[in-house]
Amino acid sequence: MSADTSLDRYSRQMRFYGIGEEGQRRLLASHVTLCGCGALGTVLANALVRAGVGHLRLIDRDFIETSNLQRQVLFDEHDVAENLPKAEAAARKLSAINSSVHVEPVVTDIDRTNILDLVKDADLVLDGTDNFEVRYLINDAAVKLGKPWVYGGCIGSHGQTMTILPGETPCLRCVFEAAPAPGEAGTCETAGVLGPVVNIIASLQATEAIKILTGRRDAISRDLVYLDVWENTYRRIKVAPLLGKVDCPCCGRRRFEWLEGKHGTHTTSLCGRNAVQVAHRSATRLNFEELARHLQVHGEVSYNRFLLKFTADGHEFTVFPDGRAIIKGTSDVDRARALYAKYVGH
Ligand SMILES: [Zn+2]
Repeated sequence: MSADTSLDRYSRQMRFYGIGEEGQRRLLASHVTLCGCGALGTVLANALVRAGVGHLRLIDRDFIETSNLQRQVLFDEHDVAENLPKAEAAARKLSAINSSVHVEPVVTDIDRTNILDLVKDADLVLDGTDNFEVRYLINDAAVKLGKPWVYGGCIGSHGQTMTILPGETPCLRCVFEAAPAPGEAGTCETAGVLGPVVNIIASLQATEAIKILTGRRDAISRDLVYLDVWENTYRRIKVAPLLGKVDCPCCGRRRFEWLEGKHGTHTTSLCGRNAVQVAHRSATRLNFEELARHLQVHGEVSYNRFLLKFTADGHEFTVFPDGRAIIKGTSDVDRARALYAKYVGH
């Protein structure tokens, strides 16, 4: 296949005046890290793989449930039945969509110990997560390493997005200095979320990604964009004047407090799930065969290469090879830690 034929699939995109063949070649050579492969993440991954990014690292800690299918566009009922982690299931779909893109699924919880490694070789970092802790970690890492990133968030019928070019535009902490206190912001449990608003916000993020990766910085949005699809509102909030005007701990004083562990937790209650993630990191991968044998006295245990499931004390446990577990049927972090210690150990 000649180089020209390999570009055929992108012909409509290259015909667009803002991209052209040169822009397409830049896209094909680009490396993107996408944090989170849920609602925003699946729309972002789909758009970027079809557009022809070179390498997409897809990071997600979770597995797929039926209630995800309303908005997480890359997944289907077979993925739920197969108990697949989101990153793995998404990578399989994406490879069938465009086999020339190198998709790298990473099933892990993003935290201060691994974020720098996960983004250091990326040209761009994308926020497809649903929590502020990871966003502030991305912000710290991106500002520290001087990498562009695109923030996005949705709840109910509204969402917002902002592009951060370190040193050139305000960072996330210039605009939102601290994460909302627990219970202060709505959650997907209390407010729900509509599929269409997720698609719109992620599509805006994907467009910003394409502008950055093709070198069209002149076209990048310098505003915080807020929209509500139910209330029919669209607002552009001018944040550019904040750069250098606010005393930002991150991009101003270069104090990376989230990376340093001054904020954040390890064991977290999962939004809308009546579940807790116990992030006990194991240095060696868990031996599922052995763990299953030990747990069989409590009831039925099932496992595959990616996760192990069992039920005990009325709680459903999902354990990952790196030692993490998601425990359903409680939102009490201490109770979840105790259950973990009782059944999984360490
Ligand atoms: Zn800042």
